Amino acid sequence: MSTIVKKLYKILTRTVFPPKCLVCRSFLNPPEGDNDRFSEAVDLSSSLQIQVERLMSEYLCRDCIAGLIAVESPLCSCCGLPFESRHGLDHRCSECSTSPKNFRIARAPLVYEQVFTEVIHCYKYKGKIQLARPLGELLLRAFRLFWDKDSIDVVMPVPLHSKRLRERGFNQVLLLIRSWQAIAGQLPSDLSDLQIENDVLVRSVSTAPQSGLGRKQRAANIKGAFGLLDEAKIIDKRILLVDDVYTTGATVDECARVLMHRGVAHVDVLSLARAV
Ligand SMILES: [Zn+2]
Ligand SMILES: [Zn+2]
Repeated sequence: MSTIVKKLYKILTRTVFPPKCLVCRSFLNPPEGDNDRFSEAVDLSSSLQIQVERLMSEYLCRDCIAGLIAVESPLCSCCGLPFESRHGLDHRCSECSTSPKNFRIARAPLVYEQVFTEVIHCYKYKGKIQLARPLGELLLRAFRLFWDKDSIDVVMPVPLHSKRLRERGFNQVLLLIRSWQAIAGQLPSDLSDLQIENDVLVRSVSTAPQSGLGRKQRAANIKGAFGLLDEAKIIDKRILLVDDVYTTGATVDECARVLMHRGVAHVDVLSLARAV
């Protein structure tokens, strides 16, 4: 399609089907100008809050965007929990001080609050696959913000059990990681050395859902659920494990335990959202 036809098509569909906010269903204001948000050459270092507003403005109204909260220091230097007090330096939270984790650090771009919970729900369960692009870019930007370039060798999603995968049809996190290559071309971000492994870490046991369980029950529920295949691919590698939501960290900690036991260099964790 030529550019003019594309623009006309966009105007026409916006007139016939004016876009609504995914969360509160109010009509969205048309974007100012005609900029394509994904092709803007935006500096990787600009703040996460600004990135979030830019990425989500095609899907959420201004009020809902205002409800999204970026994770910022001071936070737990291990699990990434943002502290209530907005003053002081990063340090270990009491939970990470008393029960050391199998992963090194965990980070997330956004707090898991009402609006973002609904956005993730739309993506995972309501077929809003178009969110893979902004959410994938958000993850990639958080990765570049919290990790030094060349500090990770292998990226892998937390695996779903085959039964869950059949029900849902896709691993929602893998889809986000897969979008990175397309996005990286538009950012000053070279990902060519990054190895993506989707079938080394496997979920061999179908566990009951973690929701509704307490910290200890979650850890007990998930213990022994993961195994490794073809582990030669990851020995001595620095691993980034990716998940959608970090709640108590029980799932990623169990994955990290299995990976560390088989001789990876270390495991770091990146999630879309951090429960507080
Ligand atoms: Zn809204
Ligand atoms: Zn912590």
